[in-house]
Order: sequence, then structure tokens, then C-alpha cells
Amino acid sequence: MSRKIFIAGNWKMNTTIDEAVALAKGVVEECKNRGNVEVAVCPPYISLAAVATAIKGSGIKLGAQDVHWEASGAYTGKVSVDMLKSVGCEYVIIGHSEQRQYFGETDESVNKKTKAVLAGGLIPIICVGELLAERENGLTEKVCEKQVIGAYKDISKEDALKTVIAYEPVWAIGTGKTATPEQADEVHLFIRKVLEKLYDKDLAEKLVIQYGGSMNPKNAKELLAKENVDGGLIGGASLKPDQFKGVVIPQ
Ligand code: PEP
Repeated sequence: MSRKIFIAGNWKMNTTIDEAVALAKGVVEECKNRGNVEVAVCPPYISLAAVATAIKGSGIKLGAQDVHWEASGAYTGKVSVDMLKSVGCEYVIIGHSEQRQYFGETDESVNKKTKAVLAGGLIPIICVGELLAERENGLTEKVCEKQVIGAYKDISKEDALKTVIAYEPVWAIGTGKTATPEQADEVHLFIRKVLEKLYDKDLAEKLVIQYGGSMNPKNAKELLAKENVDGGLIGGASLKPDQFKGVVIPQ
């Protein structure tokens, strides 16, 4: 089964509009020779429009870092799927561990957001992953299974096929500690087993599962060589075009 490699840069709360445009232009330039690798950048909301212009014609896709599930209304500070569509987004990161940790994201809100994103024709990148204490207590599979089941509640196979999962062990995010390729592959395979139970083998084999957690030019090649690792969700290394290139086109 050949799945496409998909690398997405999560810029988090970094870059002013000017900095975002410069970064986007750098990414366009550095990632020109990426072959069939799908690449997306996910800047802060305020820079989406400017980045959309900067990446136009490059084949690089635009993503958002979050969304609200309601279509419109009195939800101060929130942004809807239609708003993201209107600015040119194709992807939306949902359930990032920082959202879960600091902003009250739950499996239920992840599910609502996923449904809204799918209904709007965008592609959700659904993040799952365990905390350090959970890994140390042997709970990695239990936690990931619960998060996957929660995210896909009442979602049809047809819709689920349009999703992407990012396995991001929380202890590896922004810490410089990366899961070993074997650890990543093992959890990715486990997630496929959960998907097979929820849907079927066909879906489990088709879904792109990215790894996220201190992925960088030094470890990308080994991680991406693993059978069940289909790309990466990149934080720190996505903020420097040459570093990002080192993940998109690992040497
Ligand atoms: C992330 O924010 O999704 C992430 C993986 O960050 P980093 O690459 O910095 O660990």
C-alpha cells in the first residue's frame, strides 16, 4: 500500500504578517524540488491571507491551526470553517496537544470540529498522543485509542477516508526528544489497528498518519523510512525554510 508523504508546518503562535510572508516565500523556494511530497504550512490566523498570496502557484497548501465547529454567531475570538475556506485553507489542525493542555480541547470538541471541517470540504489533521507519564505507565495505546475513537465518533467511512492523523507524543513536542523510529512505527501501526476495528482494513491502510514531535532534518529520513510513518507535523523546524526543507527532502 503506497500512501503519499505529507509534511505540514505548524507555525504555532509565531511570526508577524511580514515574517510569515518571508517564511512562506522561503518555504516555496526551498521546497521546489519536493517531488510528490504534499506540503502544507499552517500560519497564525492573521497571516493566512498574506501567506495564501505568497504560496500561490507553488502547490504548497494552506492550513489553519484550529477552527470552531459552529458556522457563525456569538463566539468571540473564534473562526469558522467557511472563514478558513474563504481565505484558501485546505487543511485544519485539530486537537493539537497544546489545545488539549491549555485551552480545554476534549475528545468531544475534537469530534465536533472534525465533523464541521469535513462538512465544509476541508481536511482535518487530527492530533493524538500520550503524555510522558502516560507512556511511563504503559498507557500509550489506551490513550491513543480513546482519542482516535473519540475523534471519529459518528463519522462515516467515506468521510473518515478524507482525514489525516498526526501521532504526536506530547513528551516529544518542542522538547528535542524524538520518539525513535521504532516507537513511532509501533504506535502508528496500533492506530491503524484501532481504525481497522472502527472501520475496516481498507481504511486503516489508506489513512495518512504523520509523526510529530521534534522532527528535524537529522531524524526525518529514519522516521519517514518506517512503513507506517507517512509524513510529519513539524513545529520548531518549520520556522526556518532550510530546516523545513531538510524534513521535506531529507538527505
Ligand atoms: C507540533 O507542534 O506539532 C510539533 C510537533 O512541534 P515540534 O516539532 O516543535 O516538536
